[in-house]
Amino acid sequence: MNTSTANISVTKVTNSRLAEVDFDNLTFGSTFTDHMFVCDFKDGAWHNPAIVPYGPLTISPAAKVFHYGQAVFEGMKAYKDDNGEVFLFRPEQNFERINKSSKRMAIPEFPRDIFFEALHKLLDLDKGWVQSGVGNSLYIRPFAMATQVGVSASPSDEYKFIILLSPVKAYYTGDVRVTIAQKYSRSADGGVGAAKAAGNYGAQFYPTNLAREKGFQQVVWTDSNEHKYLEEAGTMNVFFRINDTLITAPTSDRILDGITRKSVISLAERAGIDVDVRRLAVSELVDAANNGSLKEIFGSGTAAVISPVSAFGYNDKVYDLQKQDDSYATKFKQQLMDIQYNRSEDPFGWRYPIAND
Ligand SMILES: *Cc1c(COP(=O)(O)O)cnc(C)c1O
Repeated sequence: MNTSTANISVTKVTNSRLAEVDFDNLTFGSTFTDHMFVCDFKDGAWHNPAIVPYGPLTISPAAKVFHYGQAVFEGMKAYKDDNGEVFLFRPEQNFERINKSSKRMAIPEFPRDIFFEALHKLLDLDKGWVQSGVGNSLYIRPFAMATQVGVSASPSDEYKFIILLSPVKAYYTGDVRVTIAQKYSRSADGGVGAAKAAGNYGAQFYPTNLAREKGFQQVVWTDSNEHKYLEEAGTMNVFFRINDTLITAPTSDRILDGITRKSVISLAERAGIDVDVRRLAVSELVDAANNGSLKEIFGSGTAAVISPVSAFGYNDKVYDLQKQDDSYATKFKQQLMDIQYNRSEDPFGWRYPIAND
């Protein structure tokens, strides 16, 4: 698989921290492996791709990223099967998406050969950090940021592209209660909602805190014009099952084109489930909850794979969802994880093996 010609220098740690890690008590995204990948953009090109020991960076406080938020990221995972083989899930999609996000944020695109060789080399060096066993994985965080010094509001001409690896267990514990946005918005027509741009997340923290105070973990965002149509949650796309039809919002420049979302749609279509990719009005959701036809709501995203929603709040009312015996959320989560952990066939060719040296 490793056919790239990118010339990545490697500096290994002298002492691995692996033995100190308590894999049973990981907080999502707060433990990092021994190595990271760093590459600099300067004078119009990406230079010096390098794998180095994980550690702090020295960056000027005047770097543009701190002032203008010119930064994008990705989220992907590596999984280990029972034979110790490591796999990624549809990494090509993440590669294309970070460049799409970068383009929207006026960040130079990153070369494919360096991206994939960096992943191969990093995962080979730090494969001991990928624990086998379902639910265990290595979260991969590629990101790019503007590092040029200067507080003038213009795009940077220097950037860093970095990849971090973080061992994780399943992201959420238990079901999620969501509230439907009636005042704030995460994105708007023509905006950056479809990009994994850093500022999209910072902007959600305040309204999400308000939701938390009322007992909801997440906000389901609605269209910014009228707050009438359901769009997505802050880090997950959202599916609604009304009777036996699965409904999800079409992607647009306000909605992140999730890889888990498109995988769920493919699995549902293959299973002969009716999938309706269309705008769903909040009023239709409330009607369906009231007349008993709303069976499930769930979120989809790399971190948690599928997050079943146990209740939604709207207009100060809480609508509880009953557990379904034939839950779509459970079924798709199982099928996705079976593919990810190499425990089933891979009919769509989504698994991407990382060769074991
Ligand atoms: C990353 C993300 C998702 C999920 O995308 P996946 O590719 O499935 O991980 C959904 N919504 C938002 C806003 C996101 O940032």
